[in-house]
Amino acid sequence: MKRKILITGGAGFIGSHLAEKLVDEGHSVIVLDSFITGSINNVRHLIGRDNFQIYRHDVTEPYSVEVDYIYNLACPASPIHYQRNPMKTLLTCIHGTINALDLAVKNKARLLHTSTSEIYGEPAEHSQREQSWGNVNSVGPRSCYAEGKRIAETLLVNYSKEYDVDIRIARIFNTYGPRMQVDDGRVVSNFITQALGNKPITIYGTGLQTRSFCFVSYLIEGLVGLMESDYSLPVNLGCPDERTIKEIAELIIQLVNSRSSIMYGPVPKEDPVRRKPDTSLAKKVLDWRPKINIEDGLHETIKYFQELWPAPVFCTSCYESISHIFSLS
Ligand code: NAD
Ligand code: UDP
Repeated sequence: MKRKILITGGAGFIGSHLAEKLVDEGHSVIVLDSFITGSINNVRHLIGRDNFQIYRHDVTEPYSVEVDYIYNLACPASPIHYQRNPMKTLLTCIHGTINALDLAVKNKARLLHTSTSEIYGEPAEHSQREQSWGNVNSVGPRSCYAEGKRIAETLLVNYSKEYDVDIRIARIFNTYGPRMQVDDGRVVSNFITQALGNKPITIYGTGLQTRSFCFVSYLIEGLVGLMESDYSLPVNLGCPDERTIKEIAELIIQLVNSRSSIMYGPVPKEDPVRRKPDTSLAKKVLDWRPKINIEDGLHETIKYFQELWPAPVFCTSCYESISHIFSLS
């Protein structure tokens, strides 16, 4: 069945892949994005398709569109970006989610919210299961994002109870792939751009901290599967292939065939030590299991960055010149 679908944050890394899939499937897709961390370059190939529209809009401000499904992705996801303007991050998590929920009430639409593994904080159990309540410092540097995402989950379940909104909650773990911004600041894009330039690879801390990386195309399958499912409690979406950051650095150096050395620097405050999703619930309720081959995923991502090379441009103002973008206000 063809749907009218809103994606907030649809010009970002994950949102643009989701928009592409839904447009290709023939749904009518509307993207709202403020372009704070996204780029028109991510969705330029969709502009002109008659089932795709994009509007520049900050989701903390109210808006109105007629839709059946809402994917709420708008929020900076990289620590350097969400910590740059912590109040804006919080307001996006809170007011942005309330506005999406109010729209869901008005349209009787289904709302999928993208939560995060950050809600587990410094995990008290390993791997992380959905039943875990999390271990987050409410006044720490990551709290604008982690607590913002926690309150967003609470908003969803309470709107569901009080206003009968049909909700879905995806707790996404570290995802990587093409269309991460060159200046995104997350580990995979940093290491690849450093390796391509034969610059030192910047490991924060010992490099023995772990993350589990999921290639973006599998994540998109999980998001769409969750939206179509009838499961409305939180579900982990991620790849249980746990790696140390040092391993990732060495793998990228090898795959790029780079002359980069490894440089160790200070570890960011409250950087989680270990992260690995328990994905048994996603397997049970969505029959979803990501493929585990980080070499192939990194290869695709490296190819994407190589195509931008030698002059990768991150241009936050280039969208101004695109006539297909209108302001809603
Ligand atoms: P991203 O930064 O590439 O994309 C976020 C998009 O939201 C950008 O296009 C940005 O311009 C837009 N945005 C931010 N604030 C906005 C606002 N107030 N109004 C309108 N648009 C706004 O990040 P991403 O990696 O694509 O993440 C997408 C979602 O998935 C986020 O909600 C993030 O928290 C969640 N998530 C991502 C990961 C990951 O590893 N990528 C992990 C966990 C959760
Ligand atoms: N990291 C690193 N060098 C970098 C960027 C990140 O060593 O240039 C580390 C970071 O300290 C963390 C891990 O890689 O331990 C993942 O960081 P990222 O920002 O990608 O994601 P998150 O911390 O939100 O999981």
